[in-house]
Amino acid sequence: MSDHQKMILTVNQIFKKHPLCNNCLGRLFSKKLRRPSNKLLGNKISKNQNSAKKCFICKNLFEKLDYFLKLMLDSSSNYSYDSFSIGVIIKPSIIDKDDFIRSQYKLRGTDGIKTDIAREIAKSFSKKTKKIFDTQKPDITFTVNLKDDSVQLHSKSITFAGRYVKTIRGINQKQKSCVNCSGKGCRMCDFHGISEFESIEGQISKFLFEKIGGTTAKFTWIGGEDKSSLVLGTGRPFFVKLQNPLKRNLKLISFERNSLKISNFKLISESPKQPLKFYSSIQLKISTSSDINSKYLAKLKILEKHPVVVYDKSGKRSEKKILFVNYKKISKNIFTLSLKTEGGLPIMRFIDGDDVIPGISQILDTPCKCSEFDFKDIEVQ
Ligand SMILES: [Zn+2]
Ligand SMILES: [Zn+2]
Repeated sequence: MSDHQKMILTVNQIFKKHPLCNNCLGRLFSKKLRRPSNKLLGNKISKNQNSAKKCFICKNLFEKLDYFLKLMLDSSSNYSYDSFSIGVIIKPSIIDKDDFIRSQYKLRGTDGIKTDIAREIAKSFSKKTKKIFDTQKPDITFTVNLKDDSVQLHSKSITFAGRYVKTIRGINQKQKSCVNCSGKGCRMCDFHGISEFESIEGQISKFLFEKIGGTTAKFTWIGGEDKSSLVLGTGRPFFVKLQNPLKRNLKLISFERNSLKISNFKLISESPKQPLKFYSSIQLKISTSSDINSKYLAKLKILEKHPVVVYDKSGKRSEKKILFVNYKKISKNIFTLSLKTEGGLPIMRFIDGDDVIPGISQILDTPCKCSEFDFKDIEVQ
């Protein structure tokens, strides 16, 4: 008996008890015959069969797929993307019946019904949109839910790198989260996780939401500064991951927003996994309780010789190297200090705290206060 004859025999056996639609039939036998189209194959096999009955496995689900295709086209119409994939949710009872038939008639090794539904929809969607079906790294993913007749679209996040220069004092680096959802995103904040946009984070986020669309923007900063600090030179590097973007690219490398200049802005594959090593050049204005003279200030040069030891609140010890120190007396109890230091030195505590050793107050042996500090530049190693 030929393979084909054997197959006809099995089909007849199945059909006596379990009517199948052409798609299910084709799927169960396509591997045996190496045929590309399950439905065509099903048509051929079942030509003489009674196909008026409902499919035992899928209850004729495949007839409904055009409806889902339309939902997919509608939901994706605002998105720019090149590739897509499809996840399928169906009733467990359908999968059980599919498994039952496959084991009962020794048809293991054939595709499951979910795979087939996804492939059928993908074929029609590709044909309509000319987009690529890509299960590995798709730009957007549809979840086709045949249990509640809905389609959900998820667009893969994109990440940008950039630098910002801040030329006006009084702007926070970070934005407070939406009070309603603590940053997760909710209806009240338009799913952005923030509801105000005055900080650096807020302004960059707003720009991205306007230009690219998306829900939340999550930042990774290379260091931080005070609200009153300026950030000059080439600026502070940052990374921002935008969830659910509508577009996937931005053809500009710099932009300005109020007091903020963004440069070196570009799409990257992902934010760095490890913290980046960097150096900050900082200028500080310091006032002292007792009068100072330049000879006295020379003691600060000791900072170039040994790393500063920093204890954080939990008592963890770390060391920060200071590459150079410069000072200039302004008046009898005010001087400026220029430093180039390893990133992450807590500036305020370095001036007046007792958990950064040696601190400025300790070295000068008089209580010191920092009235402002600015970043002249930040260099990433
Ligand atoms: Zn079926
Ligand atoms: Zn919210």
